[in-house]
Amino acid sequence: MLDADVHAASADARFRVTVESGAMRLVLAKARAAGDRETGGILIGHIDSNGRAVVQEATGKPRGSIFGWYTFVRKTRGLASLLKTRWQESQHYLGEWHSHPGALPTPSEQDRATMRAIARDDGYCCPEPILLIVGTRNDSTEISITVFPRNEQSVLLR
Ligand SMILES: [Zn+2]
Repeated sequence: MLDADVHAASADARFRVTVESGAMRLVLAKARAAGDRETGGILIGHIDSNGRAVVQEATGKPRGSIFGWYTFVRKTRGLASLLKTRWQESQHYLGEWHSHPGALPTPSEQDRATMRAIARDDGYCCPEPILLIVGTRNDSTEISITVFPRNEQSVLLR
């Protein structure tokens, strides 16, 4: 399933996102492999000439991450150098992804607070970060894609 690019947009088409199939495959494989533990990583890509965010790469857990039920602390070791390399290839940090084992892919209050902080943090150079969540319940896998524009309400894409 989902062996193709995933496209999503806000109702007013202000925010448009494409997750390339390779990145989507990695996210789904990592989410399934983690079983009932939450896992995640970051989204890397570019904004195309039409203003569409194109996610070309999703990372797995960086070294130093600590995993457990609904606790997911990511250490940035190893990530800074990866992003520096990607920056030179015109690929930038676009946002975050993580799994919700046994749950819907609805952003939690903690998720929202984290994304709002990223949008405000000039260190990320990403005023409109994307959050991709994979919810795995029984045999079904659902994803959500939400944009968190700085100082604005978040926007769920369809
Ligand atoms: Zn979450």
